Amino acid sequence: MISKEMERNIKANGGIREAFNEARRQKTLYGEENVFDLSIGNPSAPAPRKVVDVIKKLSENVNLDHQYMCESGYEEVRSKIAGWMNQKYKTSYGINNIIMTNGVAGGLNMVLRALLNPGDEVLVFRPYYPAYIGFAENWNGKIIEVDPGEDFQPDFEDLEGKITKRTKVVIVNSPHNPTGVIYTKETATKISEILKSKQKEYGHAICLLSDEPYRDLVYIEEELPWWPDFYQNTIVSYSFSKSLSLAGERIGYLTIPTEFEDSENVIKAVRLAMGRLGFVNAPALFQRIVGECIDEQVDLEYYAKNREILYGTLKQCGYECIEPKGAFYIFVKAPDNNEERFLELARKRHLIFVGGSSFGYSGYVRLSFCCKYEVLQRAADALKQLADDCKIISISTIYKYR
Ligand code: PLP
Repeated sequence: MISKEMERNIKANGGIREAFNEARRQKTLYGEENVFDLSIGNPSAPAPRKVVDVIKKLSENVNLDHQYMCESGYEEVRSKIAGWMNQKYKTSYGINNIIMTNGVAGGLNMVLRALLNPGDEVLVFRPYYPAYIGFAENWNGKIIEVDPGEDFQPDFEDLEGKITKRTKVVIVNSPHNPTGVIYTKETATKISEILKSKQKEYGHAICLLSDEPYRDLVYIEEELPWWPDFYQNTIVSYSFSKSLSLAGERIGYLTIPTEFEDSENVIKAVRLAMGRLGFVNAPALFQRIVGECIDEQVDLEYYAKNREILYGTLKQCGYECIEPKGAFYIFVKAPDNNEERFLELARKRHLIFVGGSSFGYSGYVRLSFCCKYEVLQRAADALKQLADDCKIISISTIYKYR
């Protein structure tokens, strides 16, 4: 019954779904507290107090308007967001530059719907958020993978070589899922130089689509590059899923600058896509809530503590991984590049990870640290045992043999 394309998608999505099912199976068998599900990116930090207060206040207002609205969202909310961004990024956005969306997933689909002709190419940097494949295929786009260079910054030569006359969109994601890497200023400069030169060569605009659900989850002092400062044809897709722990409420926004090529038509097409996709408009209540909570964010310390214990444990055990600077993931190299065996041994210790193959990058696994701190505390012993199972020279092993 189902289409060939969805059949392929079900298979490609296997890793995350498999991990989820395995965690559920093990919890039933061994008890919730004995299973360490580090597979999913579902935020567990509580939403800020103000969010709860605003929900309460609005839900008690019997005259609250629940009607359909303009597909871009409430003007007063977009105006607040524009004002807030103008202060933060020294931009000059008006309400027309902001479109409220159903999270980043909704935003990315709307942009791809608006821009892609069948066969147009969408470049993504390996490892990448696996949903990009489905999002591009929804609109008959073709995913082209770009390899990583050192420390999971992009390989610029590969990027340059993979841009063709069919390249329409390049998706960047920083802070990055699944590595926690932040693209440096040098990376932003280099990417924008390449895109500018390729635009000239092919004589048409290339959209840089910045996927930013983790923009506010940063654990270092360094400032994140703001992509529109580097490259004029940038659309930013933001979401409150992680920054306010509202993932299930589906709320975010797109910014399309006036300087973006043919911006008037692009904005019209993206707005139209909201209806064509069947979203109609972003959730009314949560538009109002984020409008009132624009200065709020979840307690970053909640995830910073998780990052410290998980990264500390991994390094102590001798695992190979780089320190995540943002988001809530660590990408760990599988011993001997054997992802399947590593996942299997981990499962035996009730540790549930997602294989790097799901992110287009085999030989690694992703560990998520958006769970409760206690889970990571309890997981520490299992991670040490797993290091011994894999014959990784862990500090505990060194001590044992002394
Ligand atoms: N992009 C990346 C890189 C993600 O990790 C996620 C969710 O985990 C999303 C997009 C989807 O976010 P949203 O809930 O805003 O649709």
